Amino acid sequence: MDKILIIEDSLAQAEYLKSILCKDYDVTICLKGEEGFRKAKGEAYSLIFLDIIMPDVDGFTLLKKFQETILTKYTPVILVSGLADVQHEEKGLTLGAVDYITKPFSPVIVRARANIHIKLHHYQIQFMQQAMIDQLTGVANRRRYEDESILKWREATRLGLTFSVCMFDIDKFKVYNDTFGHPAGDKVIASVAKTASSFLQRSTDFFGRYGGEEFVAILIGNDARSAFEFLKTIRQAVEDLHIPHDPSVSPWVTISIGGVTLLPKDGDTYDDYLKIADNMLYRAKHNGRNMVVWSDSGREEWQER
Ligand code: GH3
Ligand code: MG
Ligand code: MG
Ligand code: MG
Repeated sequence: MDKILIIEDSLAQAEYLKSILCKDYDVTICLKGEEGFRKAKGEAYSLIFLDIIMPDVDGFTLLKKFQETILTKYTPVILVSGLADVQHEEKGLTLGAVDYITKPFSPVIVRARANIHIKLHHYQIQFMQQAMIDQLTGVANRRRYEDESILKWREATRLGLTFSVCMFDIDKFKVYNDTFGHPAGDKVIASVAKTASSFLQRSTDFFGRYGGEEFVAILIGNDARSAFEFLKTIRQAVEDLHIPHDPSVSPWVTISIGGVTLLPKDGDTYDDYLKIADNMLYRAKHNGRNMVVWSDSGREEWQER
């Protein structure tokens, strides 16, 4: 059941609104503006009814805060007011409220508006999620990767945790396409993504398609040795799919992985680390493919199947 938050200082008004909506929605009331803001950040509401005139903070100010806060930015807000004048309505809608209703309100109209805005909200969320997913493989796409890599990087830096990043690349894939055709190649990309992502399921892990037949993974909190061993397991799992390759290349489709584990220091950037991972991948390719090459904080380098 979708959740609705009512932020309104008058208990009678709030209860009345709730009575209109509670048959179809899970409704929470907040009589104070600031507390409403905290609640809105803490839970996924599908819609917020926001009173304009409240003693502690006015609805317009709160609306601005919602818009500026990532956790509430996409939650639709309907302003509720006794003020029927046009200026308030203009101001509210200009600030980003999706709708405006004035007291006393018609239950039928309130319900209809709630329904339509919640429906639109669902479309928006669905659209945003799809825009972040790679259509061929179902894993995170490049756009999502750009956002997540920075978030993960900040998280590791803030918490003082080790950070690992690695690049995967399917070996001799051009030959695969030339031999078996592009549609068959697409299936291989999807299988590799499915296998690799099934290993990277922790909430701190990230796995996505970087582009073409290349993938990127980020791990937080592993030491270099455990990250290396883990990626070797993934490399092996891909080989174990036993997808036949062109025999002139190798019996099965394989991947090369290059990665690095580091404890972020002041002045380091994410791009520096990605570059190291890329160099390790280059080495894996150069040294024979179907292997993992790992850099431990730039001190040691390991290379194994
Ligand atoms: P290497 O082992 O050095 O990585 O050799 P490679 O042939 O895999 O390397 P290269 O980067 O030269 O070629 C990558 C190939 O991947 C070229 C391109 O045709 C293929 N490719 C990229 N994206 C897709 C895709 O979405 N679908 C298919 N089927 N093939 C793709
Ligand atoms: Mg009020
Ligand atoms: Mg490539
Ligand atoms: Mg390749």
